[in-house]
Amino acid sequence: MEAPCLAGGHGSPRQRSPFCCRGGSQTLPPVTWSGGLQAATRSANLCRRTKYEKSEAAEVKIVRYRSGTRTEYGIQKGDIIQALEGSPFRGIKEAGRSVKASDVRLLAPCLPSKVLAIGASYRSHCLEVGQPILDEPMMFFKPSTSVVGPEDKLIRPAGVKRFDYEAEVGVVIKRRAFQVSKDKALDYVLGYTCVNDVSVRDWQNVAANWQWGRAKGSDTFCPIGPCIETEGNPYDMGVESRLNGVRKQRGSTSDLIWDIPSMIEYLSSTMTLLPGDVIATGTPVGVSNMNPGDVIEIIVDGVGTLRNYIA
Ligand code: MG
Repeated sequence: MEAPCLAGGHGSPRQRSPFCCRGGSQTLPPVTWSGGLQAATRSANLCRRTKYEKSEAAEVKIVRYRSGTRTEYGIQKGDIIQALEGSPFRGIKEAGRSVKASDVRLLAPCLPSKVLAIGASYRSHCLEVGQPILDEPMMFFKPSTSVVGPEDKLIRPAGVKRFDYEAEVGVVIKRRAFQVSKDKALDYVLGYTCVNDVSVRDWQNVAANWQWGRAKGSDTFCPIGPCIETEGNPYDMGVESRLNGVRKQRGSTSDLIWDIPSMIEYLSSTMTLLPGDVIATGTPVGVSNMNPGDVIEIIVDGVGTLRNYIA
């Protein structure tokens, strides 16, 4: 057995699943996942050769906020938030009133039924820590009860030695997705956000917590925000973390082993993704520990800064 790795999304080798393209018996219903690493890499290369056309007219920052006793969605431009009628997942329609961002409390920008997190997904990070490149994405859940929003406190459990940040690009699902091909996958994306895949390493790498539920799914372990940016290049999106103002991680989704459409194809091949569900796409090299009193910031280019405080 390999020595466990302290970095995010890593552990011992897993058994091959029925989806693996290199053997194993397929015992589940038909799936549309079109292959493992090699197919995904080919797909990613093809995608990267496709020119991404940025549409500034389509750039919209969707926020969710509490104003007095009211919780609603809005579109933020600078310090002004235009309130929306209902949910942006049913279409973006302004309600005709606005609030100042400085007068409200921003919340996590969506309420996911589940956060689907991918580990060991950045090529350079795997190389640096000696993690083998896997045949298919390594996926785990973070429960809805772990989600918090911008400026919220993250609870560091007493007695743990490693309470780590992981800066990740979050993909917010727009509409129900089941068995979606990677060619159509981006039609199911509302936009992108910042996610911190907070992880207690002490708990992650012990057999009793093999599925990482406690290590990565405890309360406050999934900050999301500050907004959902509806425009962005999924094939080359910068992501970084800053701890107390010092940059600790800097990467780009161009380094992902499986690009974002391939992740959606893989996840939706057997699992229904619902509006508001979030895919945490993995973290680049440089994860480390947070202590009480620290300020952690996750930045995704074009989205903004997700800031949280360690309690
Ligand atoms: Mg992670």
